[in-house]
Amino acid sequence: MKVLVASRNAKKLEEMRRILAEHLTEQTGVVEVVGLDDVTPFDEPVEDQSTFEGNALLKARAGVAATGLPTLADDSGLCVDALNGMPGVLSARWSGPPKSDDRNNELLLAQLHDVPDERRTAHFTCAVAVVHPDGRELVVEGRMGGRVIREVRGSGGFGYDVLFVADDHPGLTTAELSREDKDAISHRGRALREVAPLVADLLA
Ligand code: IMP
Repeated sequence: MKVLVASRNAKKLEEMRRILAEHLTEQTGVVEVVGLDDVTPFDEPVEDQSTFEGNALLKARAGVAATGLPTLADDSGLCVDALNGMPGVLSARWSGPPKSDDRNNELLLAQLHDVPDERRTAHFTCAVAVVHPDGRELVVEGRMGGRVIREVRGSGGFGYDVLFVADDHPGLTTAELSREDKDAISHRGRALREVAPLVADLLA
């Protein structure tokens, strides 16, 4: 049985393979997880929805329509309380094209320059959508709460990790955590662990 993860990100594919494998049931049998680079290319939708859930569903539906395979897709971003939830769904391209994590982080620091420590709270959200060719759809969301610090720290992770300290791991930025430690508390890890048994049920 094949499942498409509508992503070209090798790390996401590997994480999904690992977490799905842990939750396979006897009825599900062997599941092969393929990515966008493994299927015939198709027009990928513009992520123009105002919610993580909307964008994740858009990508998963497009995957099913193009391949006929049960498809998972995720959408994620950082929501900063003092910025009314921005950058949110715009996280990847907040500072404009071409996409740059460094410029996004500079913009975040500038926007929060006058915001005192106690008001620098934020959370990452990850929505994972699963769409079956028979029309069944589900979406789960995972969150990681924390705060935005005042200077970049760490060399792991990606995106805003160098500026984010999670409540579940105070003292270190998520860019200073090992991959396993970040997976255990991250928005994406939480959403994927919750969705994996549901995918197994859907495929059974
Ligand atoms: P995507 O959903 O993987 O496209 O991620 C959207 C954007 O949100 C990324 O480009 C990052 O800017 C931000 N983001 C999402 N998840 C994380 C994370 O785990 N750490 C840091 N930044 C993240």
